[in-house]
Amino acid sequence: MKIGILALQGAFIEHKHKLDSLDIPSFYIRNKNDLEKRKDGLILPGGESTAMYKLLVELDMLDMLKTQIKEGLPTFGTCAGMILLAKEISNQDHAFLKLMDITVTRNGYGRQSSSFITHNEFNHIKIPMTFIRAPFIKTLSDDVQILSLYDEKAVAVRQKNMLATSFHPELNHDLAVYHYFIDMIKIKYNM
Ligand code: GLN
Repeated sequence: MKIGILALQGAFIEHKHKLDSLDIPSFYIRNKNDLEKRKDGLILPGGESTAMYKLLVELDMLDMLKTQIKEGLPTFGTCAGMILLAKEISNQDHAFLKLMDITVTRNGYGRQSSSFITHNEFNHIKIPMTFIRAPFIKTLSDDVQILSLYDEKAVAVRQKNMLATSFHPELNHDLAVYHYFIDMIKIKYNM
């Protein structure tokens, strides 16, 4: 199994450390050549979605990335990565990759509480969740499965080959979200 981590901007190193600790081979995707490399999964990290999108366009990676995810590549977006995947963004007029049937509100958790840690269930396991200027999910379609709720809002969701969290599992010790993502990959490729 090999996982590609989009490494244009944001918290990509932390994801790599987590995969290293699980002995899962991974590599950084910094340009179109990297994006073409064989992989069984893809991580879109947290950071700044506008900056990542701008770089994806400038480096001519947008269409290829979109096609790979559309064709079923298991993909995990954290925070800004979730924003990239969303079909709609409630507080700006255009969305980015437009692949997941969710509407997100950028920086939805507001200024005062823009960063915080809480403990909540992810797929029935209680885990720490770190939110940093996190988006919240305003609406989602019936096809989107909720894996975590915080403050009555979905903060971890799954739709087909796509997993997305408002919080940052790469910043906590817990590995439950990674195990879930790795299982998605194993099931898809019968590993
Ligand atoms: N607020 C950022 C954005 O809009 C996301 C924050 C994060 O990834 N921690 O892209």
